[in-house]
Amino acid sequence: MTAYPSLHMIINGEKVAGGSRRTHTVVNPATGESLGELPLADAADLDRALEVAAEGFAIWRKSTPQERAAVLQGAARLMVERADDLARIATMEEGKPFAEARIEVMMNVGLFNFYAGECFRLYGRELVRPEGMRSTVRWEPVGPVAAFAPWNFPLGNPGRKLGAPIAAGCSVILKSAEETPASALGVLQCLLDAGLPPQVAQAVFGVPDEVSRHLLASPIIRKLSFTGSTVVGKHLAKLAADNMIRTTMELGGHGPVLVFSDADVDKALATSVGGKYRNCGQVCVSPTRFIVEESVFERFRDGFIEGAKAQVVGNGLDPATTMGPMANARRPEAMDRLIGDAVAKGAKLGTGGERIGNQGFFYAPSVLSEVPLDAAIMHEEPFGPVAIINPYKGEEAMIAEANRLPYGLAAYAWTSDVQRQRRLAAQLEAGMVGINSHMIGGADAPFGGVKWSGHGSEDGPEGVKACMVLKAVHEG
Ligand code: NAD
Repeated sequence: MTAYPSLHMIINGEKVAGGSRRTHTVVNPATGESLGELPLADAADLDRALEVAAEGFAIWRKSTPQERAAVLQGAARLMVERADDLARIATMEEGKPFAEARIEVMMNVGLFNFYAGECFRLYGRELVRPEGMRSTVRWEPVGPVAAFAPWNFPLGNPGRKLGAPIAAGCSVILKSAEETPASALGVLQCLLDAGLPPQVAQAVFGVPDEVSRHLLASPIIRKLSFTGSTVVGKHLAKLAADNMIRTTMELGGHGPVLVFSDADVDKALATSVGGKYRNCGQVCVSPTRFIVEESVFERFRDGFIEGAKAQVVGNGLDPATTMGPMANARRPEAMDRLIGDAVAKGAKLGTGGERIGNQGFFYAPSVLSEVPLDAAIMHEEPFGPVAIINPYKGEEAMIAEANRLPYGLAAYAWTSDVQRQRRLAAQLEAGMVGINSHMIGGADAPFGGVKWSGHGSEDGPEGVKACMVLKAVHEG
């Protein structure tokens, strides 16, 4: 069985811990027990990381596509070798079932291999000019990147945040969530063991607001990549603006799912229940608001309640578990508040709505229906294991409800009408739309949102280009 590793930062390839640094206790959300003490960066650590990142950029911007691809492919191979250990550590820190954590490892493997190929496709273009003149448009790495990753995908988020800058020729300072540090360190270690120069990618932890203020105030950082809540994203965008730092913002969502009466309702149900309780609903693209056509509403709601009750809630290391605990103590508190408020305002609680057991952060798979518009959960991202199922009349009203919120990350729809599928694809305000499918990602596909869900993309060729800038060179 994998032991939980000792915790540290990685600055210039060195393990940094101890001294007079403050620490943060990392907790196993299934048991509430302490896993270890994480050292938090002080100002001197951050200054050192910045200085090293500047050196790293000077080295890596000159690297060849072959060198970058070899590191990414090597790290992918190491992740495959270490997959079980990485996944177990992620489950210990975050709670998700081991099988889900293992999928995260394999997603990183796919992404790193895809990015390895992208390293060779970062070419620009030559413009047509009179004889004797030459004009070229080139892509160049933007510079040192500050990347802040949250806890919900302890391996996948750091994979995205590290892979893209490394493919682009940038250096990167990663601050992954203090709740899930060992997973992030495991991913970075694969890159370092695959030959990445230690100056190129580093990992710090700290008090998030201190770290972000410090790094974004530095002229060394040229790009911020953040995944997290909209409120923090807006705050960081303002800090970044002061130094005109480019940003990629992958923020919150409130995933609408439109279910029409002509849909394959059984398939919609099976996919939606699985999607809703994946990672305990703590997923930015989680299906959240089920907007169901009246005539199939009762069937859909009752089927969902049955599906919720069939979830096996337990420790993610138990192979029978289909849903683990929530990742931290804040989440069950948010669930109690949002579900309590909805019920007080007249919503029907089909199942769940309560914590399970007295250790860790377990919460029952929950279903709310007929939730009034004035309930907070109709506006706030629940980020937990609760489905909101409401009946609607007709396509226009359903699309209007889907687009009602300022969020626009993922939207889903279930219908067999081909013309309607096209209308939905055009009219749903979201960065990613799934029609008769909830598979909306892939190493080759841009992942990102519109409106308050942020801007810019991760993954796909766009994820690498987001770490690059254009230069036009005109030679006479
Ligand atoms: P939070 O908003 O405080 O933190 C979200 C993430 O941002 C964490 O990883 C945190 O370390 C980081 N963060 C917070 N303040 C920061 C700062 N000033 N500088 C840099 N990083 C900072 O909330 P939380 O309690 O951890 O999570 C709750 C909410 O966050 C959820 O309801 C959800 O909306 C959102 N969230 C979204 C995603 C996503 O994938 N988009 C992931 C995790 C959390």
